[in-house]
Amino acid sequence: MVKIKAIKSAVINSKGAPFKIEELTLLVEPRLNEVLVKVVATGICQTDVHIQNQHYPVPLPIVLGHEGAGIVEQIGSGVLPCRLAIT
Ligand SMILES: [Zn+2]
Repeated sequence: MVKIKAIKSAVINSKGAPFKIEELTLLVEPRLNEVLVKVVATGICQTDVHIQNQHYPVPLPIVLGHEGAGIVEQIGSGVLPCRLAIT
């Protein structure tokens, strides 16, 4: 059964517009080779600013912030087990 979850996101709605914090809905069930990560922090880098200003044209609206850190909450059925070691 697919769950729907409300999340907060920084959204760009139009070229050059500031990031706007919006509540979005997310389908929570990961597909075969996906993992569901609860993002707890992310940066906004120069690439994101280029997209915000459409120097790299992408369809809008968009949620940016690809340099995140988070917690794996769920894995798809095709994801192999792994272990993270911090030394
Ligand atoms: Zn980046």
